[in-house]
Amino acid sequence: MATAIVIGSGLGGLAAAVRLKHKGYQVTVFEQNDYAGGKLHAIEKDGYRFDLGPSLFTLPYLVDDLHALFPEHKIPFTYLKKEVGCHYFWEDGTIFHAFTDQKEFVDHAGDIFVESKRILNDYLVKSKSRYNLTKSLFLEKSLHKVSTYLSIDTIKALFNAPFLGLFNTLDQENQVFKNPKMTQLFNRYATYNGSSPYQTPGIMSMIPHLEIGIGTYYPHGGMHRISQSLYELAQEIGVEFRFRESVSQITHDNGNVTGITTKNGAFNADIVVSNMDVVPTYKNLLRNVKEPKKTLEQERSSSALIFYWGIDKEFPELDLHNILFSEDYPTEFEYIFEKKSLSNDPTVYINITSKETKTDAPQGCENWFVMINAPGDYGQNWEELIETARKNIIEKINKCLKTDVSNHIVTEYILDPRGIEKNTSSYRGALYGAASNDKFAAFLRHPNFNSQIKNLYHVGGSVHPGGGIPLCLLSAQITADLIPDA
Ligand code: FAD
Repeated sequence: MATAIVIGSGLGGLAAAVRLKHKGYQVTVFEQNDYAGGKLHAIEKDGYRFDLGPSLFTLPYLVDDLHALFPEHKIPFTYLKKEVGCHYFWEDGTIFHAFTDQKEFVDHAGDIFVESKRILNDYLVKSKSRYNLTKSLFLEKSLHKVSTYLSIDTIKALFNAPFLGLFNTLDQENQVFKNPKMTQLFNRYATYNGSSPYQTPGIMSMIPHLEIGIGTYYPHGGMHRISQSLYELAQEIGVEFRFRESVSQITHDNGNVTGITTKNGAFNADIVVSNMDVVPTYKNLLRNVKEPKKTLEQERSSSALIFYWGIDKEFPELDLHNILFSEDYPTEFEYIFEKKSLSNDPTVYINITSKETKTDAPQGCENWFVMINAPGDYGQNWEELIETARKNIIEKINKCLKTDVSNHIVTEYILDPRGIEKNTSSYRGALYGAASNDKFAAFLRHPNFNSQIKNLYHVGGSVHPGGGIPLCLLSAQITADLIPDA
């Protein structure tokens, strides 16, 4: 029987394992941790449950597609659609509830921000067209195969290049709005892939369509159900998992992959798929292979500093997703991407799953995931940065919610870029692999196949098409399409 080894059980690794099994391979996943899921993991602390990584779930059909490959295995995975995507707050008291229905969003935003409803609607229509025009080229196919460029979808996208906003920044694109708060709200979509709105190209204005259009979702039981349900499925269909077994080398002979090595010896396979970040894959597992320098030197995406707080009170003004905006957005991004530090006025994101899953916190309490965007780990003094950031975050929450939140924090766990790198091998703790601060970023990302070693493939957030749950799942789909049936 043809064999496949997957290095890492992050979302890309789990999805690749399921897809390869479906193609008839005997699949073994080697995972350095003692759990599956990588960044999509969860912890329990003092009666509170916290999703450790992703909190926003879009394009849920990509998870359904994997379960649908094996309809006879009924693994529970259900979700709800959010009517309101996010509650936004500013220090001057402005509060905005962002509906996921386009018409409702436009009506409400037009009223709150005294913004032209026609301009708002046109913006969202354009967002949708850009998404539909480019998704096939940038998200669903390998950018590194000639056949991609000969498809009708690609020709359509290239024909529409001037319309795609490739030659200005997202912030410039968002100057169509009169109210700076509206510009700031649409600028925040750059952080979907860990980029800066002042550098990332205007084409990123297609991202709002994901929320205000297709919609945002919440898996029953929390985000952890995404990785858990895929792990359960993989187990049921016979994928073998070897936990606490870090891969130290990818072996190859005459330009063909032969397998991997761990502390327990050598393991042969016909196919190897690496879900490890592509930078350490080359630096640690492929030491004798020429590095694709330009690709590995691409600027990394932002990382995050997260405080997981058990709160002994309920805040009815908050919802599942909440954003408390900085008063000075350009400076916040200058700190992250240029100074590699944290501004004193960060935008604070609060995710509260106990709003949907009551058992995630004791009665009358809430589980807060409080995150600010942060630079990757470049050896900064994190203890000092964390202490200052904690004070600044509390101050921002107090100003926006008119409270003293420090009196309500009953338990705390902290994750910073160093921890994210340690837990998942993500280079510098980047959340999304390479940043999209350059209009050529998509083309510089590592392909899903290895051009030097036949039958070696790459999946996950650090390779094509990029980071985030949907793109990691798509990376596994593109990879599986490149691999013949067993
Ligand atoms: P990873 O999760 O990076 O996992 C890689 C796996 O490989 C790990 O399990 C690691 O232990 C294993 N591994 C590495 N090296 C080896 C080795 N040598 N041997 C064996 N095993 C190895 N995305 C969204 O869509 N929405 C969000 O709201 C969102 N928010 C985020 C918030 C945070 C705090 C973080 C950290 C991420 C967030 N993301 C979000 C991004 C998303 O989590 C990632 O893009 C995605 O989960 C990455 O999946 P991956 O396939 O790249 O694998």
